[in-house]
Amino acid sequence: MITERVAENLYILDTGMLGLERYGALYILKAPKPAIIETGFSHTLEKTLQALDELRVRREDVAYIMPTHVHLDHAGGTGHLAEACPNAKVIVHEQGAPHLIDPTKLLESVQRAVGPMFPFYGTLKPTPKERVLPVHGGEVFNLGNGYEIEVIAAPGHAPHQVCFFERRLRGLFTADAAGIYRPWGAGLLLTTPPPAFHLEQSLETLARLKALQPKLLLYTHWGAHTDISLLDQCAHMLQHWVSEIEHAKKTLKDDQAVKEHFVQKEAPLLSAHYPELILRGEIEMNVQGVLLYLKRFRGIN
Ligand SMILES: [Zn+2]
Repeated sequence: MITERVAENLYILDTGMLGLERYGALYILKAPKPAIIETGFSHTLEKTLQALDELRVRREDVAYIMPTHVHLDHAGGTGHLAEACPNAKVIVHEQGAPHLIDPTKLLESVQRAVGPMFPFYGTLKPTPKERVLPVHGGEVFNLGNGYEIEVIAAPGHAPHQVCFFERRLRGLFTADAAGIYRPWGAGLLLTTPPPAFHLEQSLETLARLKALQPKLLLYTHWGAHTDISLLDQCAHMLQHWVSEIEHAKKTLKDDQAVKEHFVQKEAPLLSAHYPELILRGEIEMNVQGVLLYLKRFRGIN
């Protein structure tokens, strides 16, 4: 089996993101109207189709493809998957929708954000406009058999991010709104990338997610967790992370020095738990996201 059951009719697929185990996930909800939540990178397609076969979900029956936001580790496979599942509608935030229809600008932005890691990020095939169903939060999709997915606006990590709340399971697909939590990892890790990380929005989103009273947090990175206090932990860590970077920014000479400071500080703590391949890149990217936020919203240059 390449899929793993995490709840009734809900399965997780390890996409093998960046060649790593339990780092990237997509979920298949085998309801009368089946849904695929997240798509992984474009090169995940083959594995996703295998997973559908394994679960005996026919491609033409897939009703919804639901990337939480248009970062490529979540939405890179959308165009390919939409082609393979010809009757599926693609549910995506209205601000993300244009980027799935014409990915040119998005791919340029990803290249700027991830630099040397770009080749690992695959590509993004355009999704035909008529297949895309833009949402902004509050919409509910009835999948049958009591399964209903509510779209929850979840800005902060990115302005166009949504979470999905499945009401029957009380399962919350957290996207990147609640950080990264790998089963064997160093606990909770943050993801605060450029160009649009926003602290207050992140905190406000986390408060709303908590108010939903989920029973299950379904992380893209990675897996199903019943410890709902992760939402509070994440809020705490975000505040601490931003104030630490603000302090460093005021005392060190430039942005590069700030990044280097945090690479030196964080890398030894994370190296046992975070893959070498992306260690420095991730830390620099997370610092850069906060620096940009401080500049734009707190006037700290
Ligand atoms: Zn992600």
